[in-house]
Amino acid sequence: MSSDLAQLTSYKMFIGGEWVDAASGRSFESLSPFTGQAWATMPDGEEGDVDRAVEAAQAVLDNPDWKRMPPIQRGRLLRRLGELLREHAEHLAQVETRDNGKLIREMLGQAKALPNYYEYFAGLADKILGETIPLENTAIFNYTLREPIGVVAIITPWNSPLLLLSFSLAAALAAGNAIIAKPSEYASASTLEFAKLVEQAGFPKGVFNVVTGFGKTTGGALVGHPGVSKVVFTGGADTGRIIARVASANITPVLLELGGKSPNIVFADASIPDAVNGCIAGIFAASGQTCLAGSRLFLDEDIYGEFLERLVARVKTIRLGDPSLMESEMGPMATTDQLRKVEDLVASALNEGATLLYGGKRPDDPSLGQGWFFLPTIFTDMGSDMRLAQEEVFGPVLAVMKFRDENEVIARANETRYGLAAGIWTNDVKRAHRVARELKAGTVWINTYRALTYASPFGGYKQSGYGRELGVDAIKEFTQVKSVWVNLSDTVPDPFVIR
Ligand code: NAD
Repeated sequence: MSSDLAQLTSYKMFIGGEWVDAASGRSFESLSPFTGQAWATMPDGEEGDVDRAVEAAQAVLDNPDWKRMPPIQRGRLLRRLGELLREHAEHLAQVETRDNGKLIREMLGQAKALPNYYEYFAGLADKILGETIPLENTAIFNYTLREPIGVVAIITPWNSPLLLLSFSLAAALAAGNAIIAKPSEYASASTLEFAKLVEQAGFPKGVFNVVTGFGKTTGGALVGHPGVSKVVFTGGADTGRIIARVASANITPVLLELGGKSPNIVFADASIPDAVNGCIAGIFAASGQTCLAGSRLFLDEDIYGEFLERLVARVKTIRLGDPSLMESEMGPMATTDQLRKVEDLVASALNEGATLLYGGKRPDDPSLGQGWFFLPTIFTDMGSDMRLAQEEVFGPVLAVMKFRDENEVIARANETRYGLAAGIWTNDVKRAHRVARELKAGTVWINTYRALTYASPFGGYKQSGYGRELGVDAIKEFTQVKSVWVNLSDTVPDPFVIR
């Protein structure tokens, strides 16, 4: 894309507390999904830049300013960061909307929630406890220390850059690690704006670094770097597989937050208007560009017709538009690749015999012409083996299926390689808990959908990933345990004397 470079915002990376260009001097453009035009340039980092970031992160881990900082002081820094995030929420949300095309109302909601993540983990920074182990031999005192893991690489996707960064960053900082963030090449700007606030909060130089660039090159160099002690990856399952493989060369542990094909199950006794709202929130509210998308809707046959009628009536009124306007209800796809993927899966559903109930194409409205929009789309008559029933779309496409009874729907809901989330709609409390236990998913919502908080663990079953972010136990993901043995007896016996 050719553009007037003079008009573009030119970003720098943040390494070792300095704002720097890529060593090669190269940069790439970031496009606005609403206009299709470039609006900013990012340094195109590569191996040498990653080396510099790892060196800076390793150095601060040995720097007493960070290594010996009292945990309560780490908590204060996190709280200060939370305050700054609160002050700058609107700006951060606007930058994200411009960069990834998602609705300002969603990005602002996320930006306003960010301070909670840092404040919650600030409170845990000085409560990272070891244990004393009661041994048979009381002359030995055995205890554990929970120590930082070291350099943590956090690689994020484009759909919710700062929220997903914060899912692991807050805990990783609270635990005393040093971080290198690698945002998506499609939406790097907000992470660099965020880094300005980390700098302002007063973290020692090198505690938080941002390297921008492309997946294979910049991301690959980071994952394969022997100086990186843990990789946290949020993104597609195929990329996750590559990352786990590359990291294995150095036995680097990986936390994977991958995609989903989450079921939303509506029983006949549910409140239909609520379930319709939950279904729309699950699949259309973020244009389907969320790992949690409730992309498979299972409807009890007794309410099938009524539910679809209400659903289509509401879907027809969804306002597609400029994502930076509060009144817009659905924005564009974030990338042209993503738009092509949506079109491909829609075509495959038609070829495989599914019935298109609504949408299925780009909107005709000329005012949306420049943007990468796709209509909210609903397919019925779906077979479980169709691609659309199995593959993650990451777009506004809903696959609707009919069921007769509870056991049948549990089996069908579990019939994918993913297991990120699931929704259950019923007013029968026993059924709700029974089904929740049977669903193979890391998160199950009953009579709600897409609820998230810093205080509750988040992660996937099956090929949706492994490891858990958020909640008290997330600290364990970012610490390692050392077992210390102390001999309290007066002597050490001769090892060759048989007793
Ligand atoms: P992606 O896998 O293409 O890219 C994610 C990140 O990985 C980007 O920063 C990219 O540059 C980097 N990357 C790509 N190839 C790499 C490589 N070989 N080595 C190292 N890094 C590499 O994903 P995306 O298209 O940006 O995001 C969409 C995907 O993310 C969807 O599948 C979605 O389900 C998933 N996602 C998961 C969660 C979750 O928490 N489980 C949340 C949001 C999105």
